[in-house]
Amino acid sequence: MTKLNTQNEFVARHIGPREADIAAMLELLGFDSLDGLTDKVIPDSIKGSSVLGSLPGLSEADALAKIKTIASKNKQFKTYIGQGYYGTLTPSPILRNLLENPAWYTAYTPYQPEISQGRLEALLNFQTLISDLTGMEIANASLLDEATAAAEAMTFCKRLSKNKGSNRFFASVHCHPQTLDVLRTRAEPLGIEVVVGDEASISDPAEFFGALLQYPASNGDIFDYRELVERFHAVNALVAVAADLLALTLLTPPGEFGADVALGSAQRFGVPLGFGGPHAAYFATRDAFKRDMPGRLVGMSIDRFGKPALRLAMQTREQHIRREKATSNICTAQVLLANIASMYAVYHGPKGLIEIAERTHALTAILAKGLKALGYSVEQTHFFDTLTVATGAQTAALHAKARAAGINLREIDDQRLGLSLDETTDQAAVEALLNLFADGKTAPKFDELTTGISSQLPQGLKRQSAILEHPVFNRYHSETELMRYLRKLADKDLALDRSMIPLGSCTMKLNAASEMLPITWPEFGNLHPFAPAEQSEGYSQLTSELEAMLCAATGYDGVSLQPNAGSQGEYAGLLAIRAYHLSRGDDQRDICLIPQSAHGTNPATASMAGMRVVVTACDSNGNVDIADLKAKAEEHRERLAALMITYPSTHGVFEEGIREISQIIHDNGGQVYIDGANMNAMVGLCAPGKFGGDVSHLNLHKTFCIPHGGGGPGVGPIGVKEHLIPFLPGHNNMQRKEGAVSAAPFGSASILPITWMYITMMGGEGLKRASQMAILNANYIARRLEEHFPVLYTGSNGLVAHECILDIRPVKDSSGISVDDVAKRLIDFGFHAPTMSFPVAGTLMIEPTESESKEELDRFCDAMIAIRNEIRAVENGTLDANDNPLKNAPHTAQELVGEWTHSYSREQAVYPLASLIEAKYWPPVGRVDNVYGDRNLVCACPPIEAYQD
Ligand SMILES: *Cc1c(COP(=O)(O)O)cnc(C)c1O
Repeated sequence: MTKLNTQNEFVARHIGPREADIAAMLELLGFDSLDGLTDKVIPDSIKGSSVLGSLPGLSEADALAKIKTIASKNKQFKTYIGQGYYGTLTPSPILRNLLENPAWYTAYTPYQPEISQGRLEALLNFQTLISDLTGMEIANASLLDEATAAAEAMTFCKRLSKNKGSNRFFASVHCHPQTLDVLRTRAEPLGIEVVVGDEASISDPAEFFGALLQYPASNGDIFDYRELVERFHAVNALVAVAADLLALTLLTPPGEFGADVALGSAQRFGVPLGFGGPHAAYFATRDAFKRDMPGRLVGMSIDRFGKPALRLAMQTREQHIRREKATSNICTAQVLLANIASMYAVYHGPKGLIEIAERTHALTAILAKGLKALGYSVEQTHFFDTLTVATGAQTAALHAKARAAGINLREIDDQRLGLSLDETTDQAAVEALLNLFADGKTAPKFDELTTGISSQLPQGLKRQSAILEHPVFNRYHSETELMRYLRKLADKDLALDRSMIPLGSCTMKLNAASEMLPITWPEFGNLHPFAPAEQSEGYSQLTSELEAMLCAATGYDGVSLQPNAGSQGEYAGLLAIRAYHLSRGDDQRDICLIPQSAHGTNPATASMAGMRVVVTACDSNGNVDIADLKAKAEEHRERLAALMITYPSTHGVFEEGIREISQIIHDNGGQVYIDGANMNAMVGLCAPGKFGGDVSHLNLHKTFCIPHGGGGPGVGPIGVKEHLIPFLPGHNNMQRKEGAVSAAPFGSASILPITWMYITMMGGEGLKRASQMAILNANYIARRLEEHFPVLYTGSNGLVAHECILDIRPVKDSSGISVDDVAKRLIDFGFHAPTMSFPVAGTLMIEPTESESKEELDRFCDAMIAIRNEIRAVENGTLDANDNPLKNAPHTAQELVGEWTHSYSREQAVYPLASLIEAKYWPPVGRVDNVYGDRNLVCACPPIEAYQD
C-alpha cells in the first residue's frame, strides 16, 4: 500500500477501516489488494473513464484556509431586496444546538418512527406552526422552495379542480417573478397554460381551473382577496395563496378567506439567506385534500402499548408505490430547515413573533412616512414590510449611491425601486435609508416620524384569530429551556453520531466537521440570491470550481447546480432531453423506458416531464432484461425519448450490459438518463458520461457528503454531454433566462461548500480510494452475512457494488419472522434498520459506505447474526412463534419495570449482546401502529392533555 502523503491526511479521517483492517477484510474476500477487488467488480467495458486523478488533495487546515479566501470575496451588503428572501437572526441556541449539531443534521428521513420521535416531534411542530399561521386544516413537513411549492400547487389544483374542461392556470402578476418562472417551466410539458395577469381585471374566472395569488403582493400591496376567491369557487376553480409567514401573524390568514392551498417559504424564521437556499417551503390545504398533498406528512399514531407515537403518515402515497401515478416526485425535502423554522417559533412564541412582525411593520411605516416627507411617492396604501417607491429619473443614481453605501435596494424598473424590511432592521438602518433618499437634503428626524405612527395594514384584514396557543410554543422561551428541549428531542433519535445507518441507496457517510464549518459563515449565509453579481464573486468561484470537479467526476461536459434535490435533478435532466428533441423537430418523442427496479422518483418524474412511462423487465439476476429493453426500444422507436436507468443498479450491481443498453437507446433515437444517485461506488473508478450517459443527476446529499438532515436539504446537480448544455436550467439572473427549476439560480447554494470541501480534501486519489472502500465494506458485510441471510443479487463475479440486498423471505417462510421484525429488532441492538423492502419486497438493502470502520461493520454483522440465531430459535421452537424478542421489538425501558410476562428474559430483550451494556440506546416508544395512524389521521400537535393518560 502506498503511504498517503501528508497533504491527503483527511482521506484516512473520512475512511473508516485502517490499513490492517483493510488487509484482513480483503483476505476474507480472497483478494490481496483493493485494486484487485475493484478490478474484478467494475466491468472491463466501463473501467477507468474518470478524469479525477489529477486533482490533488488538501489538508483540512489548508482547505479551510482556501475556502475562507473564496468566502471573503462575497460582499455582505445591507439588503432590502425582499422578493421572498429576508434578513433574519438565527437564534444562537438553534444555530449551535440544532444546525451545527450532528445529532440533528446527520439523521436520516424518519421512515423508522421508533428511532425518530425527536425529529418527528419537531416536524409536527412545523406542521402545527404552518396550519396555525395560514389558518389551513393540514400542512405537510416541507417542500423544496416557494417556487416549486407553487408549481406543486398548480398541479394539485389541476388534479382536484372540478373545472375539468380548463387547462389554464391564472397566476397573479403580483407573484414573485421567480415563482412565475418556475410555474412556466412546470406547466409547459403538461400542456397547462399559465396566464399571468392582474387579478383585479379578470373578466371570466371560468376560463381557469385554478389560480395563484401572492399575499402580501411581491411589490408590497396587501389585497383583500375574499371576493375574488368566491368568484373562483363559483366556477369550480381552486385558489392557492403564496403567503408570507411573518405577515400572517398580523393578517387574516388565507384559510380564513377561503384559500384551498396556502404555500410559501419559512426562510425568514431563522434560516439564513444563503444565496437562495436551502430553505423550507411549506404547503397547507384543506383536510379533504390531504391524500393528494405532495411531500411528507407527520401524523400521530399509537405504539404497541397504546401510547401516542409519531410517524410519517400515508407512506403508501409515496412515489415508490404510486410511481408514475404519484402526486409528485418530491422525495428529499427540507427537514433540517423546517426544524430550524419550527424551533424559531418555539423559541420566540406567539408574542415574540408578533413583536418581530410589529416592529418590522412599524419601521416600514416610519420609513414610508419619511420617504413621503422627502417628496417621494410610495405606491402602497396598505403594506406590511415592503414598499415600492416612485423614484423617477433618480432611480439609477439612487441605486448607485446605495451600493456605494453598502446597501442593496430592489431593482424594479428605471422609474421605481423596492424596499423590504425585516427582523434585522433597526432605527439606525431606517435612518441610513432616509439619509440615502434625502440625497443631500436633511432627512426627517426618526423620533418625529414615530409620533402618530399607526398600523398600515388594511383594517378589514387585521388578524382576529389567536396564533400558536399550543403549549409547545409557549414554554421554551429561555435559552436553558430551549437547549434542553433540543437535547431531549435529539436523545430520542438515532443519527450517525451514534451508530452506522446502513441504508441502501442513501449513502449515509461521514459529514465531516471541516466540510460543515463554512456553511454557517456569514460570508456564505448573508447573501441575497438576487444581489448584484459583483457581490457574489466568492460564490461564483465556488460554483464554477465545483462544476468543474463534478464534470471531472462524471465525465460530463456541463453541470447545473440548480436542482435542489435528486428528484429535481431528474426533472431538469428529462427537461433537457425533451428540449433537445424539440429543438430537432422531434416533437413526438415522449416515451420514457424505465426498468422495473428503478427508484420511484424516476417514473414520477417522467410523468411530470410529460412523458409516457414504459416499464422494462429485469431478469432473475436483477439485471435489466436487455432483450425486453431492445424489443421495447424498437417497438417505440418513433416515439422513444429516453431511458432512465440507475447505475450501479438499484440491486447493487454493476451491470455489464450498460454500454450495449446505451447503444440500443441511441440507435433508436433516444437519450440515456443515468440516475447517478448511487455514484458512491463509481467516483474515480468509472464515469457515466464516458460509458453511454447523456445526462445524470448526482445526489450531493448522498455521495458528496451533504448531510441528510433528517430528510433534507439536498442538492441534485445534473451533468450533461455537450449537446445538452444549451438545455440546462436557466434563471432570470443567469445568462440563459428560460427553464428555471428552482427559485434561486444555484438552488441550495449555501450548502455547496460541503461538497467543495469534500472533493478538495480528498483529491482524485482519495475519492477513488473512498469508492474502493465503499465496495470493500459492502462486500465484507455481504460475505460475513451470506451464510445467515442469502445475498439476493451479485455480479457474475459473485461480488456486489456498494450495497447488498439480504433476502429475508426464506426466514419468513420458516419462522414467520418478517423483514419488519428484523428491522425493529435491530433497534434493540442500537442500529437503524437498513432500507426495507426496496427494491424487492421482503428484503433489506445495506450500504455501509466507506466511512464505517471494521469495528462498526463487525458490530452490525454480530447483531445481524445474533438476530439470525434468534430466528433459528423460533424455527426450532426454543422461542415462541408469537411471543419472542423479534415480534415484540423494539423494547422500551418502561416495559422492563412492569410485570414481565414474556417467554424470554428481560436481559435477552434489551441486552442481547454483552457489548450493549456500556452503551445502550433506548427507544422512547414501542413498535408504532401504522394502520391506526392512517385511520385516525392527526397531523398537528394535539392538545397537551392528549399526551397524558
Ligand atoms: C435518493 C434517490 C433518488 C431521489 O433523490 P432525492 O434527493 O431524495 O429526491 C433518486 N434515485 C435514486 C437511485 C436514489 O437513490
